[in-house]
Amino acid sequence: MVVSKNQLPEAIYPLLEAGQRFFGEARVQETASKWSILRKLYLDCHVHLIGPLQTNKVRQALELFDAIESVDRPRLILELAKEWSNPHRKTHKLLIQVNTGQEPQKSGVLIDDLPDLIHLCHLHNLPVTGLMCIPPLLEDPTLHFQILANLAKTYNLPELSMGMSGDYSLAIAHGATCVRIGSAIWKS
Ligand SMILES: *Cc1c(COP(=O)(O)O)cnc(C)c1O
Repeated sequence: MVVSKNQLPEAIYPLLEAGQRFFGEARVQETASKWSILRKLYLDCHVHLIGPLQTNKVRQALELFDAIESVDRPRLILELAKEWSNPHRKTHKLLIQVNTGQEPQKSGVLIDDLPDLIHLCHLHNLPVTGLMCIPPLLEDPTLHFQILANLAKTYNLPELSMGMSGDYSLAIAHGATCVRIGSAIWKS
């Protein structure tokens, strides 16, 4: 996945021209303004939400993103369930973001609360296909990739979204099915 947050359409075009079709964005509003144009020109793009989602933006997010990777709390799941029948929904899968570092100010569900969250998704027939994590900035990410891979195995979830510009090869070695690359692509 190429993370195209903060990048203008002019910067994204060359990647689309080169054949890249899978992108990540962090904000609903920014995606609405940028990708309404880009999607019309490149119909087969996939755009995932990788940033936090507020409940009042759920309806719009479901119409904009092919997948939401930042599902992390019951309130959000209830709102997703409520809006899921929207005929304009584009989202077809959800990933749960796990706060593997148990950092208090960070988004993501705590490991102990993950089973209940998965259960709540199943209860509402929401398609959870995997897990996502952002390891703590200053820690060796190895442990966090191992934790996420083990959780995915435990709950039978095939997708593992982990690894960024600085640690993607390590993430792949631990089973990542998607690495989210931003700065390594954009720096000139
Ligand atoms: C910005 C961002 C990335 C990309 O990080 P880089 O280190 O620039 O590759 C990956 N994942 C998430 C959730 C992000 O917000």
